Amino acid sequence: MESTNSKIILEKLINFNSTSSESNLDLILFIQSYLESYKIKSEIIFNEEKTKANLHAIIGPSEKPGVVLSGHTDVVPVDGQKWDTDPFKLSEKANKLFGRGTADMKSFLAVALAMVPVMVKKNLKKPIHLAFSYDEEVGCLGAPSLVDHISKYSIKPLVVIVGEPTNMEIVNSHKGVMGFMTSLTGLEGHSSAPEKGLNTIIYASKLINFINTLYEEEKLNKNPIFDPPYTTIHIGTIQGGSALNIIPKKCSFVWEYRYLPDQESNNIIDKFNSYVTETLLPEMKVVYKDANISTRQIAHVPPLKSSNDTEIENLIMKLAKSNTVKTVSYGTEGGIFQKKDIPTIVCGPGSIDQAHKANEFIKITEIEKCEKFLIQLLGFLEQD
Ligand SMILES: [Zn+2]
Repeated sequence: MESTNSKIILEKLINFNSTSSESNLDLILFIQSYLESYKIKSEIIFNEEKTKANLHAIIGPSEKPGVVLSGHTDVVPVDGQKWDTDPFKLSEKANKLFGRGTADMKSFLAVALAMVPVMVKKNLKKPIHLAFSYDEEVGCLGAPSLVDHISKYSIKPLVVIVGEPTNMEIVNSHKGVMGFMTSLTGLEGHSSAPEKGLNTIIYASKLINFINTLYEEEKLNKNPIFDPPYTTIHIGTIQGGSALNIIPKKCSFVWEYRYLPDQESNNIIDKFNSYVTETLLPEMKVVYKDANISTRQIAHVPPLKSSNDTEIENLIMKLAKSNTVKTVSYGTEGGIFQKKDIPTIVCGPGSIDQAHKANEFIKITEIEKCEKFLIQLLGFLEQD
């Protein structure tokens, strides 16, 4: 019964193109009016430009500590991907549901919303919070204001369940992410006289080489519970130059590292910055005194540490009928909640293997597992 409702809502959610570059307001307003139809008030927390928003709603006694169901409403772009179906239309084939966001992570939102009619009928002794964010996929930009809102305006929740795809397994730790944009400024000139200019593409490649040596060092520092078992470093995009015969004045690249939870977040950026200020920039300034390298932090997703309240962890394991706790290598909004001392775990339907890819899908059995889990959870929330 519920799984039909989950599917109907999932279909609606998939129809909204909530790629992080777009506004998610239509989707948020849809959820708000859906909740309103069950007489549930929700609060909307906008970004500064009022183009995007988080949503927070409480079902049940708000004065009691409850359980937060946390998820993001945005999805990654489909540009350049070869889809066999329209990514913004849900299509079903061989017990799988295809569409952008089916795995990451609109199915969790859909199941939670489909359960609302059941939630309102129950006499909950502890509340459920729905906490839906924007811009998770571009560095968890929405979650901090949502987490602030929840920790300021309501009593501290018992636990946060972040519904990122884990095949409904319990995850209690993951790496942190730091993302940067590095921009180099050099001196333009004709390509026939390279010495009369300062070629930023060459210096960017030296920097990238340095980043790779840091990466090789990191590989020696292993924590076997993660896959890969070390901090990873990655360069995502690079842009520079304007023509074959012009010395490039500008070059910029974006890069990130995903660090082990027991490492300091600044570990790598500090080494990078000292290389820039002590070695590379002085070298550039010999050629051109106004040369510059600037690095701006564009993302920080704190790690999730396995330092949870074990009582809460055991309870969630019992409700999920799972007896193992796992780790994942991708970041989630969980670390942002955990920083406010709220026990946090990650557990949601679908597999991360399908996330961010063409023909993203979720198995219908995953949706059913999630529904069963939420029914168990409601049983717990009905108790005193
Ligand atoms: Zn996600």
